[in-house]
Amino acid sequence: MNTSAPSEGGSGSDAEVLARYSGARLRAAMARPYLATALFSMIPVLDERVPDMSVDRSWHCRANPRLVSSLPPEQLAAMWIHHVTHLLRGHAERADVAGIDSGDVLNLAQDCEINDDLEGEGIALPEDAMRPSKLGLEPGGFFEQYARVLGGIDLVQELPQLGDCGSGAHGSPREWELEPQGSAPNPSGTEAVPVGVSSVEADLIRRETAQQIVQLGTESGHLPASWRRWATETGEGGTDWRSVLRSTVRGSVGAVAGRADYTYGRPSRRAAAVPGVVLPSMVGRPAAVGIVVDTSGSMDEGQLGAALDEIDAVLRSGGVREAEVTVFATDSAVHTVNRARAGHEVELVGGGGTDMGKGIEQAVSAPHRCEMIIVLTDGETPWPERAPPVPVVVGLITKAGRPAVVAAPSPPPWAATVMIR
Ligand SMILES: [Zn+2]
Repeated sequence: MNTSAPSEGGSGSDAEVLARYSGARLRAAMARPYLATALFSMIPVLDERVPDMSVDRSWHCRANPRLVSSLPPEQLAAMWIHHVTHLLRGHAERADVAGIDSGDVLNLAQDCEINDDLEGEGIALPEDAMRPSKLGLEPGGFFEQYARVLGGIDLVQELPQLGDCGSGAHGSPREWELEPQGSAPNPSGTEAVPVGVSSVEADLIRRETAQQIVQLGTESGHLPASWRRWATETGEGGTDWRSVLRSTVRGSVGAVAGRADYTYGRPSRRAAAVPGVVLPSMVGRPAAVGIVVDTSGSMDEGQLGAALDEIDAVLRSGGVREAEVTVFATDSAVHTVNRARAGHEVELVGGGGTDMGKGIEQAVSAPHRCEMIIVLTDGETPWPERAPPVPVVVGLITKAGRPAVVAAPSPPPWAATVMIR
């Protein structure tokens, strides 16, 4: 979010500034207890390269020390609430599929989506924080709608001071986010920047927060309508796992088939079916794809079928022929290897233990030599310690009615994980 440029001459040692920064987070959590879990999952980092405050996809929340020293505490707390809202509402993930190519427009539209809600709740935003009314837009909209309207405006001329809320908002990495986590020094001190929140953990935090809001909503009438709407959608699986799964699988297939440099300039034939979204074309040689399916007794058949049908659709539209796809039905061993890839063709055999590593191992070995692997599992499985030599997408099928934290053991960091509800 853009605020007045941090003033010179901020006072205090690094430790004092960090204490002030963390204190503002505590203040935010006390003002909005239902956001406490999410706020305390964020990792505060001070960094002079950050223009004011920004978040990344791993939930680091970086701030310029001068901003922290100069902003009144209640406004600093409002900045925390603003940035945790970017993360909770999945702005980066929505930006990935929104098909809007200007980061400036995206960030501005996202700030409009957030700030009119916060203002309606009486949160003390900085004076120059962006609001829909300042741009002649209706309040209460989603950023995707705002961005389409704002796309026609010369932003740089109209608004010389644009905010940069980081890749956790608009999705594009910023230079101050690029040090490897857990190894690089914190530019403001000597400690390493801690490893952040994984996509699976982020999803759990969102659902936990949504549950708290839903509970609060029935107990008291004081909850802002915007959060109630969000919580209801999130609780009901409002985050569209299908689109995330499709884009993840499409990206992996593209990368292994030598299409990593595919361009958005060459229109996809599917594009016409998705108004407003330009899909990258997938051209080039076909990739050998392995689908490892967890057939253990604990799997939900309906969700598995739905996931397989989505994968089938994206592979077909990407020109991956049936002959290049192999399905490995796996529990504690690989039971069947075949070409069935539509949901209704895969039989769940049930049975004892589960080890998805067995399926992965067989998929990468002769004679199959799959070049990318999609694993569909409920996550109750050990994983290979070392990353397989090919990209792996894990579709993590979560079970309705089970506590969120138990429902999903984290898959390993070498896999791209999509939560399937
Ligand atoms: Zn923002």
